[in-house]
Amino acid sequence: MKIEKESFNAYVQENVFNTITEYELIKDNQKIMIGVSGGKDSILTLHMLKEYQNRSDINFKIDAVCIDEGIAGYRNHGIDSAIANCKELDIDLEVISFKEAFGYDLDDIRHLYKSSCMPCGVYRRYLLNRTAYEHGCDRIATGHNMDDEIQSFLMTFARNDRNKFSKFGPVLDRIHEKMVPRIKPLWQLPEKDVGIWCVVNAIEIHDEECPYSVTSLRSDVKNFLNKLEEENRGIKRSIFNSFKDTFNLPYEKVKINTCTVCNQPTANSPCNACRLTEEINELLKE
Ligand code: SF4
Ligand SMILES: [Zn+2]
Repeated sequence: MKIEKESFNAYVQENVFNTITEYELIKDNQKIMIGVSGGKDSILTLHMLKEYQNRSDINFKIDAVCIDEGIAGYRNHGIDSAIANCKELDIDLEVISFKEAFGYDLDDIRHLYKSSCMPCGVYRRYLLNRTAYEHGCDRIATGHNMDDEIQSFLMTFARNDRNKFSKFGPVLDRIHEKMVPRIKPLWQLPEKDVGIWCVVNAIEIHDEECPYSVTSLRSDVKNFLNKLEEENRGIKRSIFNSFKDTFNLPYEKVKINTCTVCNQPTANSPCNACRLTEEINELLKE
């Protein structure tokens, strides 16, 4: 199938700009921190927000952060892509590593857990929020696309964790003074369109799969949904639309406190990152 570049770019831009305006993701005088992994989703987010900054009447600043988990032979390619794209778009980028923040790479501790994604996710979320807060940012923009959101939605069902429903949607409210609200400009854009955008525009991205992603429940759910979509075209969009109606229901927000160890926001103190660090230090002694 031949894709006409100009009309495809116009479709992607309209989809993303509509999400930004419909849900008021960005307001005047805000500073937005973009979490950039170097993969296709975060790179498209970077380009779209820069384009939105150039075109819209809203006056806002953009910074970017790339988290280096310490995955040998993998993450360095993503960092290269983040650096190249930020340079091209004239966006300041900070690279921050697990090693400097916690004292070890993911590679050093992953053997302690069944899924590498568990410690990785806890530390990534922690560093993203802390860095955005330290930069004085009002919002963190992530590259979550429509497929990611459906996967999270089904995983929440699978884990019977209804409280997590309050975390869905294109914008998450501030519920603690140190918690920077998250926005998801690609929220209504299917993953395959993100991939096509990179190809038709010959954008430099890091397109390798994380070597540890096979261990996650998310990758099982992703494969399941892709198989369903192959056999039932449009089923993902349909699940997403049901989900949009569901997330509008008034779910109770999780109460956020302050971690007594590191002073960062958390539902229960000590925060997950501090608990994890304590646990890892104990396990490494054994
Ligand atoms: S797939 Fe898992 S281990 Fe790999 S970067 Fe993502 S969260 Fe981390
Ligand atoms: Zn803490």
